Amino acid sequence: MTQPTITTPPTPGCPDDFEELLAAIPSLGDDAFAERALGCLLGGALGDAFGYLVEFDELPRIRARFGPDGLTEFPDGRLIVSDDTQMTLFTLEGLLEAGLAAPVAAKVQAIRRAYLDWYATQRGSRPDRDQGLRRYPELWATRAPGNTCLGALRAGGRGTVTQPVNDSKGCGGVMRAAPIGLVRADDPETCFRIAVDAAALTHGHPSGYLPAGAMAAMVRLMIDGMPLAEAANRTLAMLRGWPGHGETSAAISGALKRAAAPRPDRDIAALGEGWVGEEALAVGLYSALVGGDLMRTLVLAANHDGDSDSTASIAGQLYGAARGLSDIPERWCGRLDVAAPLAWLSRRLLAAQAGVITRAPTPATPASHS
Ligand SMILES: [Mg+2]
Repeated sequence: MTQPTITTPPTPGCPDDFEELLAAIPSLGDDAFAERALGCLLGGALGDAFGYLVEFDELPRIRARFGPDGLTEFPDGRLIVSDDTQMTLFTLEGLLEAGLAAPVAAKVQAIRRAYLDWYATQRGSRPDRDQGLRRYPELWATRAPGNTCLGALRAGGRGTVTQPVNDSKGCGGVMRAAPIGLVRADDPETCFRIAVDAAALTHGHPSGYLPAGAMAAMVRLMIDGMPLAEAANRTLAMLRGWPGHGETSAAISGALKRAAAPRPDRDIAALGEGWVGEEALAVGLYSALVGGDLMRTLVLAANHDGDSDSTASIAGQLYGAARGLSDIPERWCGRLDVAAPLAWLSRRLLAAQAGVITRAPTPATPASHS
């Protein structure tokens, strides 16, 4: 196994060695939660790295490059993630900075500050390089960041559902939302709300922020053991109360319906290319439902004309949240370029979660659409 290059010292108490993370799971409280949380983060990072190889290639070009079956296996060497995983890690860092028991608004503002940190990495500004995730050089790499995220964060990232900063329904809101569903102190409806508000910082169209809410809610339901299809159906019920939910609800319903009698050769194209939020969620959901194993899930989610890294990242997150680490090979994870920061943040998450759970769970907050 090729070990990632670690050029920065780990924070005391939270090692960033990947094998040490896996070995530590039994000591970090709830094993099943730890497995699913790590499965979500690692499945997503692997999907992102897989799809990023063909992000801007249409299917004929993918087949010309990799053969008639398209991209079917990881290349040798380091697995390079894109902005999807970078921003996902910053989402997680924001949550941890807020504290897992913090109220909705405090979490959203901490996530906003984390996104401004991410924006600083993409601009190459280095005032606090030794802080948190920014200690890791791999997070400073520019990996096709989305213009909507860059533009909205340049302006401060202050969008809300009621005061949208633009009319974008790009998938930049949903592709970074999964960690919000990993906070057990929040019930699924609260995770939905936080993810909606965190996506609306940069994406003003309902189909830009509602898929993020749906994604976080599905992850939250699955980390307690609910199967993916059931989680998707539960999430459909949550969506109904939100203005502008039609496209997102139709996309999830379409993915569920097609997954019940799958014809992948035509289904993926029918669900869309994934450049917009609801399509990225639909393709990711469909692939995770139909794939059967992680590799097949990622193959389905990446081999199409559209936004392959986002769709494969979402598919990997959903698959991993449902199945845990059982078929995520450690040899792949150690090759991720972000293995060290991912391990470091994961240790912080699992430690914080164990602390939150043993202390007092936050009372369930009623969903509010105001
Ligand atoms: Mg990307």
